[in-house]
Amino acid sequence: MTKYKLEYIWLDGYTPVPNLRGKTQIKEFSAFPDLADLPLWGFDGSSTLQAEGHSSDCVLKPVAHYPDPARTNGVLVMCEVMMPDGKTPHVSNKRATILDDTGAWFGFEQEYFFYKNGRPLGFPEAGYPAPQGPYYTGVGYKNVGEIARQIVEEHLDLCLAAGINHEGINAEVAKGQWEFQIFGKGSKKAADEMWIARYLLLRLTEKYGIDIEFHCKPLGDTDWNGSGMHANFSTEYMRTVGGKEYFEALMKEFDKNIQEHIAVYGPDNHMRLTGKHETAPWNKFSYGVADRGASIRVPHSFVNNGYKGYLEDRRPNSQGDPYQIASQILKTISAVPAGAVAKAA
Ligand code: ADP
Ligand code: MN
Ligand code: MN
Ligand code: MN
Repeated sequence: MTKYKLEYIWLDGYTPVPNLRGKTQIKEFSAFPDLADLPLWGFDGSSTLQAEGHSSDCVLKPVAHYPDPARTNGVLVMCEVMMPDGKTPHVSNKRATILDDTGAWFGFEQEYFFYKNGRPLGFPEAGYPAPQGPYYTGVGYKNVGEIARQIVEEHLDLCLAAGINHEGINAEVAKGQWEFQIFGKGSKKAADEMWIARYLLLRLTEKYGIDIEFHCKPLGDTDWNGSGMHANFSTEYMRTVGGKEYFEALMKEFDKNIQEHIAVYGPDNHMRLTGKHETAPWNKFSYGVADRGASIRVPHSFVNNGYKGYLEDRRPNSQGDPYQIASQILKTISAVPAGAVAKAA
């Protein structure tokens, strides 16, 4: 038997953006455990804004697990928060009720800032560094500093070793700003992996004395870049049947549901989706081929393949909840008769 360190990870009750929480329990197994081997566990909901009435016990239900490469015999256990009966999802548990379909693929591009001493990593104590331009995909100390790339590489290795479908990294437009991409088949799979990737990044940077700033416009109303989490999506129907008529019907449905999308695309998005800096205004839907100033960018390949493939919704932001983002996209797709996909959880 081996003693495994099980890190139970969940989303707390803070709004509009939940925090990741985690605690460890040690259990003996003869080999790396299956998900079904992982027991329910509990925590004190009164400390996480998840207490209901007099009973503050909440239940943690394991829903996905990954090897934890940073620990000997470690397991990262993604959990849903349940009521004390262990069966009813807690109100903060959005994952329990989202739409899912393994034929729906999602690629999330997570942008974020490294922060140290209350400012982006590499910013001087007063004022600003040289203006944006050379930082995006940049190389060299004056562009990326001495430590950011090391962290980004370590994070990439942790994700890959955990079996997370991490697809790539790049330095972003602002100094101290980076991006990584996670791809998954199904809303739950893609979103679970995004939350675990965020967890690994937050935990990794503790030892560097660096925070991750996920806010979508941390430098406010300036020319400094905001952070998005573009959601690339395709359904089986979009990939194999598609067509211009279906695409146009789909876009009409997205246009009809601006409010529903913006509601789950992350807080303060009006600060970021201004119509400037390669964004479309948050309250006006648009789409365009290779248009990075549109709400939805249509890749050249999509049009060249007869309106088949994936689309990029550029509106979700860096603080958005990937469970709810994916679910809303599926809901909108499902309202278009041909190619409806979403199934209730
Ligand atoms: P850009 O920065 O040009 O917008 P990225 O390379 O950062 O593009 O991100 C593109 C994303 O699209 C990746 O996360 C990738 O996994 C995703 N993607 C590619 N093909 C599909 C597909 N068929 N369905 C859903 N997502 C896809
Ligand atoms: Mn990208
Ligand atoms: Mn980007
Ligand atoms: Mn993008």
